[in-house]
Amino acid sequence: MKHKIIIFTGPSGVGKSKVEEKLLIDKELKISFSISVTTRKPRIGEKNGESYHFVTKKKFNELIEKDDLIEWSEHFSNKYGTLKSEINKIGKEGKIPLLEIDINGAISIINNKKTSKKFEIISIFLMPPSKEELLNRLIKRGTETKEQILERSDRVNEELEKAIEFKHIVINDKVENAYKKIKEILMR
Ligand code: 5GP
Repeated sequence: MKHKIIIFTGPSGVGKSKVEEKLLIDKELKISFSISVTTRKPRIGEKNGESYHFVTKKKFNELIEKDDLIEWSEHFSNKYGTLKSEINKIGKEGKIPLLEIDINGAISIINNKKTSKKFEIISIFLMPPSKEELLNRLIKRGTETKEQILERSDRVNEELEKAIEFKHIVINDKVENAYKKIKEILMR
């Protein structure tokens, strides 16, 4: 039987973390958060090895060269990637890794023949109720600069169109609803 991998994505600000929090504390779902590597600097409160493994650009490039990453992509000049060792570690613990990654990284895994042969990929795209709602949430969150939000606004339609590549599209109207819908998908 193939090991499962959950790929969980959606545009920035759609509310992935809140939905994910609920999924991760649900003991009926044996899922474990896959800690990515990133060249981004830690935000206040972020600890190394918890939300991310924070690495230098040099180290990240070494990981690419050694083929240690199952996927990686660039986001606002920072690189983010998923370690093969992380996926294996979670699998050995008898759990299903949940990869919360950006849309491009997610699509690269879906389209990778080697990966889809090895794993059963459950791909989930979390969709905002509307583009306006998404931009409102981003402004409220306050982690992006005005320029980044404007750049994002231009790219949102393009991102939403990519939802078609995913097996499951879940609308995040309310965290509780999205969580329940995803739980149902995972329990099938
Ligand atoms: P943030 O800097 O806000 O933590 O994350 C920025 C973006 O990077 C988010 O869309 C997040 O899902 C994505 N991301 C986090 N880890 C990975 C990863 O391992 N690979 C890819 N491709 N994207 C990631």
